[in-house]
Order: sequence, then structure tokens, then C-alpha cells
Amino acid sequence: MSFLSKRAQGIAPYTAGEQPQDRTYIKLNTNENPYPPSPRVEEALHTFESAALRRYPRPNADVLRAAIAKREGVAPENVFCGNGSDEVLALTFPAFFDAEGRGACFADLTYSFYEVFAAFFCVPTHIFPLKADFTFDLEGMKGVDCAGYYIANPNAPTGVGIAREEVERFVAALPDKLVILDEAYMDFFGESCVPLTKRYQNVLVVKTFSKSYSLAGIRCGYAVGDAALIDALFRMKDCFNSYPVDMVAEAVCAAAIADEEYYAACTQQVKSERERLRAELQGMGFTVPKSSANFLFAGRAKVCGGEIYRALKAAGVLVRHWQKPLLEDFVRITIGTPQQNDVLLEQLKKILS
Ligand code: PMP
Repeated sequence: MSFLSKRAQGIAPYTAGEQPQDRTYIKLNTNENPYPPSPRVEEALHTFESAALRRYPRPNADVLRAAIAKREGVAPENVFCGNGSDEVLALTFPAFFDAEGRGACFADLTYSFYEVFAAFFCVPTHIFPLKADFTFDLEGMKGVDCAGYYIANPNAPTGVGIAREEVERFVAALPDKLVILDEAYMDFFGESCVPLTKRYQNVLVVKTFSKSYSLAGIRCGYAVGDAALIDALFRMKDCFNSYPVDMVAEAVCAAAIADEEYYAACTQQVKSERERLRAELQGMGFTVPKSSANFLFAGRAKVCGGEIYRALKAAGVLVRHWQKPLLEDFVRITIGTPQQNDVLLEQLKKILS
């Protein structure tokens, strides 16, 4: 006897990167930030009064919304907060796409959760191939008969970014289609399309505290867009979970987003290590697309992706590998501290020799 619904039986869930507990790894597999959160986060945690937890949090995270709005240069009515950007992205599917509609279009090589969400919410999909050099074929994508697009910018797992002007040409040409820009890694690029949300009603930008803010453990993400789009997300939230952002998360994220200076320094360090690591990897014979994120997609070396992953893991360095077409020749390496990156390079040299 199975109590599972047909949907539960049939769906292929997203596979998160491993978080092993068996030993201490140099963990370069889930694009976490190698630096700790801002000291203001520590302070917010210390001054948080646990007695407050007796009550429910603010249903719409209005204190955090105001802090995000200030930082992003928009009004609070243009901001929606959720339990990680995964939850925000999930809510966009029922908010903007119908099961019997024209569906959502995204790249063949992109964040694999889009496909899972589409299946979960019964949204038809159009999978459009990236170009051979892993860049987006936006001209080609324009022609797809769909209701909207999901574009990770920078893309995952390739790291490839699209300049804001190019995105603007795309959204301006398609006023009747919604363009959802997943900017999880945008702070490592600096071409955010948040300014476009003020001029184009068909643009929704989704961001997260997990990467550049070093707060993956707090689970908080947000969307910025026209008030009508934001209202639709609130409608969906209140059909699913009225309090997705807990009190601690709200206090911590509001403190973090105010500390621009601290995070700018961490981001700069990650970016400069990214360039050093890429040059070293290319020197070893890896193909490495230019990355605008906090990770590198490296492959087609003389040892295959799976072997590199296994040998690195045995040596205590964890990277991400997928045994899937288009991906199996590559590994995705999160940028660590200079010391961690040195260990990675040293181990890779051994593996390749
Ligand atoms: N978008 C992309 C492209 C990602 O790689 C991730 C991290 N797995 C997310 C969104 C979700 O991040 P979070 O839920 O931690 O905000």
C-alpha cells in the first residue's frame, strides 16, 4: 500500500550539494562564502531577545523589506522576502505561469531547480541550449513561444554573466513576456538589473543572502520588481506559508545589508582569487569559461571530471560534479580563501601528473 500521490511518485527532486559530516573538508562544493558574515550580524544575534520568540514574526518581514529597499534604491512595495531565494523562485512559478499556458523557458545548462519547480507546479517548459562557449543565445531565446524566462545571471554552474545592457535589450523587446533574473551571484559581477525593474514591468530580480552576504545558514532571499509582481508573490506566500522569514533571520539580514563596506572587501577578495585560480587552472590545461560568480566551471583536462572530483575528495577537498550529459567533463569549484585555493591547486597538480 502506498499513500503517495502520483505527483510525489513521479517527481525527480533537486539534489543539493553534499554536506558531509565524516571529516573536515576544504569545502568548495556549494558556493558558500569562505569569509564569515559581517561583525554586525554577530552583534544582532547577541542583542536579539529570545523572549520575543514567543510571538510570530512580522508576516511580511517589513523591517527587512525597508532595509533591502534602501540598499537597492527602490520602495518597500517593490520588495518581497522569502525563506531563501529557492522559496522566492518556487513561488514565482504558480504566481506567473499556468499549467495550460505557454510555459517557462530556460537554458539547458542552468540552475537545475527551475526544472524541479516547473514539474512541481505543472508548468510546461522550453529548454533552450547555451552556445558552445557557454554564453546565452538571447537572440534565439527571444523566438521561443513562452510566457516567460528564467535566466540565472551570472549563470550556474558555468559562472557566465550577461551585461546589463544586453539584458535590457532582451526585456525591452519582449514587453508581454516576464523575465525572471536569478541574481544569486550578482555581487561578484556588479551588473544587477534591479535598475531595470523601475522601467520595465516585465522584470523580476531575485537575490539571496546566502552567497555574497555569507548567510546561507539563515535562509533568506528576496525579489525586487514592479509592485504588481510583488503583490502576486505575497498572494502565493499566503497560500503556502504566512511567515517564511523568522525573527532572527529578519534581524540578522537587516544588520548585514547595512554593512556595505565589510562585504565589498570580502567580495573583492573572492573576485581577485577567482582570477588567480582561473589563470592557474587554464595553465594546467582546463577549459574554464570566464566567471562572473564566486565559482569556476573547469573541465576537459586530461583527467575526467568524475575522477578529479573523487581524487580531490580523497585528499580532503570537496568540489561539485554531476554525472550528467554536458556536465560530466567538468567540476564546479567554489572560490575559497587564498590558503584553501592553494591546497586545491597543489592537489590538482598531483592528480594531473
Ligand atoms: N539560484 C542559484 C543560481 C543558486 O545557485 C542557488 C543556490 N543553490 C539559489 C538560487 C538558491 O539559493 P538560496 O536558496 O540559498 O537563496
